[in-house]
Amino acid sequence: MIKLVLNSVYPSPCINCESLFEFDWQNCICKRCIELIKKEKNLPYCKSCGDGVENCENCKTKTYYNDIEVYCSFKGAIKNLIYEYKLSNRRNLSKIIAEKIEEDIKSYIKDKRIEMIIYVPLHKSIEKQRGFNHLKEILVHILPPYLISDQIEKTRNTKLQTELPKEKRLRNLKNAFRLKKQLKAKNILIFDDVLTTGSTLLELYSTIKNSGYSGNIYGYVITKS
Ligand SMILES: [Zn+2]
Ligand SMILES: [Zn+2]
Repeated sequence: MIKLVLNSVYPSPCINCESLFEFDWQNCICKRCIELIKKEKNLPYCKSCGDGVENCENCKTKTYYNDIEVYCSFKGAIKNLIYEYKLSNRRNLSKIIAEKIEEDIKSYIKDKRIEMIIYVPLHKSIEKQRGFNHLKEILVHILPPYLISDQIEKTRNTKLQTELPKEKRLRNLKNAFRLKKQLKAKNILIFDDVLTTGSTLLELYSTIKNSGYSGNIYGYVITKS
């Protein structure tokens, strides 16, 4: 109630279109901009390693992921929403993102018979600062807890990938993850928010495969930059 009164006096500008709008449970992004966020098909990227090129050179001789699915491009409303969600630590925005990808990720999980979803971990110090893992927070809105796994941890803090050129990204993440225990699920899914060069996905792939895991590994990323 107080929020509603406040908002009629000081309406919030939408983070994407900047128009002033009345909010009900969030004062971040307007309904019109939320509606702009849609599943995109045929985005160009390598479905084996996540590189920005379809059927990339590297994967001609050796393949990595069984498949990688992306929901949409990292631009416009979803880009602003993800930035706002991560930088301002506004936990409740996870619900908007979750509702957007819900149908798509659920059908992917069913189709690939996924038994375990591992979200990309944050280093403990970052998670403590933020108060939550932003990826896990999205998943808990739409999937049963037994599917969501924290079996991988990040053992050292790394530089922000976005600050590094492609050739340094893999090195930055080298051995930054650790598997807590052997995975038994036959089909697992790695969940991330932004796919750029695929370095994070590749390093996680190595971490899992180096443990002797012989099952199938899939990837689901919300956006591709
Ligand atoms: Zn808007
Ligand atoms: Zn590739």
